[in-house]
Amino acid sequence: MTDQDYHALYPVTVRGRRLFLKAGVRGFPKVAPGIAEVLDRLAVGAGERSGVAIDATGSAGAVALAAEPHRQLAWTVLASSSAALTCARQTFMGAAEVDVRAGLLWDLADGAADVVYLAPASDRGSKRIHLDLAAACRALRPSGEAWIVWHKDRGAKRYERLAAAMFAHHEVVVRSRGWRLSRCLRGDGCPEPELWQRFAAAGLDLESHPGVFSAGRLDRGSELLIHHLEPLRTAAAKVLDLGCGYGVLSLLAARAGATVVALDDDLAAIRSLHRNATVLECAVDARHSDVAAALKPNVRFDAVVTNPPFHVGQGVRLAVPRAFIEAAWRHLRPGGSLTLVANRALPYEPLLERFSSWKSLGGDRRFKVLRAQR
Ligand code: SAH
Repeated sequence: MTDQDYHALYPVTVRGRRLFLKAGVRGFPKVAPGIAEVLDRLAVGAGERSGVAIDATGSAGAVALAAEPHRQLAWTVLASSSAALTCARQTFMGAAEVDVRAGLLWDLADGAADVVYLAPASDRGSKRIHLDLAAACRALRPSGEAWIVWHKDRGAKRYERLAAAMFAHHEVVVRSRGWRLSRCLRGDGCPEPELWQRFAAAGLDLESHPGVFSAGRLDRGSELLIHHLEPLRTAAAKVLDLGCGYGVLSLLAARAGATVVALDDDLAAIRSLHRNATVLECAVDARHSDVAAALKPNVRFDAVVTNPPFHVGQGVRLAVPRAFIEAAWRHLRPGGSLTLVANRALPYEPLLERFSSWKSLGGDRRFKVLRAQR
């Protein structure tokens, strides 16, 4: 897959209208899991209300698109994924009545919305689901509605109990192929959202929004990668951290004197790194970016470090790590190095063939650390 293929947008049809999707978006090449199953019901529900509606389902705006003909609602598509944001912008280009923006549920002002739609990502862990539910509740005006999509095999029952405790009213209104749709109403009060997790990793006191990759601990693969960062620790080095998460690799490189640019598709990750960099007084240029889309084409680095993602939602997807390796090659100066860590089973070696050389630096039973020279 070339860089062009990775960044290409593909139209799919949602209730007779055109939604754009791309690699790196949850569910691609289909609409995000669960959304298709409940879309009819969501759109009907939306038609019955008026006011401000938030599509925070992570479906690149599928819900807003399906419901948008119901003009009583002023829609905002709130995207935490940069890839999904790109798609939603294309889908709603020229549709002035739909506001598309990067954001997280807890950015919304208390009581700002009449209806919120969400599809909590079970793979981000229960702390994040708590946070998303509490933030959705708080974003609603009293007796505002939250519509929540979940799957019976991924904690729906447990989270339905949680929603029942947080909201004044909770009912399951659709059950379809394992997917369940809850309708909740806000009461007067709401639990306080717990925005941050505090923990120590690699000798640093860090914070992360729940649900960011490996929040609360150092990932074993990243730990192995850190052992091989010494050559980057020279004051002059320009380092790119691709898929930075809460930023442990960037922070270590910046502390060692490197000039660091950090990119991540997940806005919650970028916010976490901003916070860590401020508290630790490290200069890191952290940007919300689908792979390296936020870099100018001619920017070059001495080193790229990465622990590439190989999941998008539940499935193993190699399109993103492939795009990471391609971007690393493109943004390295000749002689610059890519250092990456991966599960032993992942076939990344053939992707390194275009570099002038590559070698294995070791690892453990589960992970391998590879270094390639441009
Ligand atoms: N470097 C961090 C995180 C590694 S996990 C650490 O070592 O802890 C991989 C990261 O890639 C995740 O934070 C994930 O959000 C990010 N990611 C996933 N898809 C991406 C994409 N398309 N573009 C940029 N980053 C992406």
